Amino acid sequence: MIRINENYLKLKASYLFSDIARRVAVFQEANADKKLIRLGIGDVTEPLPQAVVDAFHQGVDEMADRATFRGYGPEQGYAFLRDIIAQEDYQARGAQIAADEIFISDGAKCDTGNIQELFAPGVRVAVPDPVYPVYVDTNVMAGRTGENIDGRYQGLVYLEGTKANGFIPDLPKEPVDLIYLCYPNNPTGATITKAQLKAWVDYARKHRALILYDAAYEAFIRDPELPRSIYEIEGAREVAIEFKSMSKTAGFTGTRLAFTVVPKSCMAYDEQGNAHSLHAMWNRRHTTKFNGVSYPVQKAASAVYSPQGKAQTKALVDYYLHNASIIRQEMTALGFDCVGGENSPYVWIDAQRDSWEFFDLLLDKAAVVCTPGAGFGACGQGFIRISAFNNLASVQEAMERLRLVLQ
Ligand code: PLP
Repeated sequence: MIRINENYLKLKASYLFSDIARRVAVFQEANADKKLIRLGIGDVTEPLPQAVVDAFHQGVDEMADRATFRGYGPEQGYAFLRDIIAQEDYQARGAQIAADEIFISDGAKCDTGNIQELFAPGVRVAVPDPVYPVYVDTNVMAGRTGENIDGRYQGLVYLEGTKANGFIPDLPKEPVDLIYLCYPNNPTGATITKAQLKAWVDYARKHRALILYDAAYEAFIRDPELPRSIYEIEGAREVAIEFKSMSKTAGFTGTRLAFTVVPKSCMAYDEQGNAHSLHAMWNRRHTTKFNGVSYPVQKAASAVYSPQGKAQTKALVDYYLHNASIIRQEMTALGFDCVGGENSPYVWIDAQRDSWEFFDLLLDKAAVVCTPGAGFGACGQGFIRISAFNNLASVQEAMERLRLVLQ
């Protein structure tokens, strides 16, 4: 009799997006004449930048010609892409990351999910609350938690983000080994300063812990004082792995390209306390289980770093940032406290009532879809997330409708 991994039975079904979809469907049935504006989901709406499209086409053309055709590439990614990322995203910003410490993949979702298999089943895991759910569910699947009781898994340490701490959790009071951090944050849009991030790096060094730093929204940072990578912080090379993605940086959610940075100086320990290179372990995992991102997609991603590509991706991100600032300004003017929307595509709004109650109000009265904060964890209750990923006209119309309903 084939047995299942019973840890899967502990997973709490994610009712969030199915619940939203159900409520939206009911509304649409009753209001077929009303145009719905979706500011819930975190998916991009604007097309790929032209420089990326041109490089993508060129990559496909090369694959169509016997002289330039390519089969399997290096699992870790082509050197032309790893080199340019190391130079532009790291060395140019004073972070000492080498090209061979960068692993190209098809998504930060899978990388943040897969990384935990390098660690012992018994490591103590700290996750933010509110949280990007992948961090939690992958550790549940691996058996690092007990049952879910009242919305929280036994055995996980929840790092609480609240209005009082500006959604930058305090350092843990109990011992933890693996720490997930994400800035600019999904869902709160909060950003972390260098001094705040340094406190986490120092904590990890002191306790031989490891930080898994999700920088998927790094491209939205415009404030030059904010860190765009954890490796801008002294000492991080020994205690942090970083995840980045072209999804929101350059509109790649449907094209797929991301990368994980594992510095060679990053160590974890066996039962006897001997140090082991996480770079070597991740390289082993990656080359065993992954066969590389397609050549045209890597070629397209490398164009993000060309002079035209840089200007066009900046303009693309600026477009969403402009939407975010409109959302933040409008909601603030209507008397709601907001986090995010600056250096981030998400605006996190204190709903002054139950998350779902506010969600229903915006849907029923304004035909605007947001995301109830309670779906991201206990600390999200009482908040909603509004996403800037839509076109400007829709964002403006949504805000006009909200003004009529909320003022
Ligand atoms: N990390 C965070 C915090 C995200 O919000 C997302 C996507 O929404 C991802 C990772 C996934 O990125 P990718 O599209 O590269 O899988």
